[in-house]
Amino acid sequence: MADPPFDPGDDDEVRRVLSARRAEVSALVAGSKEAREAVELDQSRVGRLSRMDALQDQAMALETDRRRTLELQRIESALTRLEAGDYGLCVRCGEEIALERLTFDPAVTLCIDCAEG
Ligand SMILES: [Zn+2]
Repeated sequence: MADPPFDPGDDDEVRRVLSARRAEVSALVAGSKEAREAVELDQSRVGRLSRMDALQDQAMALETDRRRTLELQRIESALTRLEAGDYGLCVRCGEEIALERLTFDPAVTLCIDCAEG
């Protein structure tokens, strides 16, 4: 979120921003996996309520992981399109995606019309 604004027209800069984001999200996914394994090994969580808490925590962690995994896929896909020379083009209609949209989310795949349609 605190990323400085970047120029979506500059391939090197797009690659740098996307790679940094990919490293960041990958680290979060790896970190949450370790945290989850630590909870499973924690023998003090034996009460019914704490088990329910643990299940709830686990469901939330899974949802967070799912979103991060999707984010990683979007980033990979954006990097692939960058190498193919298709970066910044809507994957549905092929029109150019507005620069301010790419600046806000460098891995965005749809133009505003397709995203809202
Ligand atoms: Zn479109």
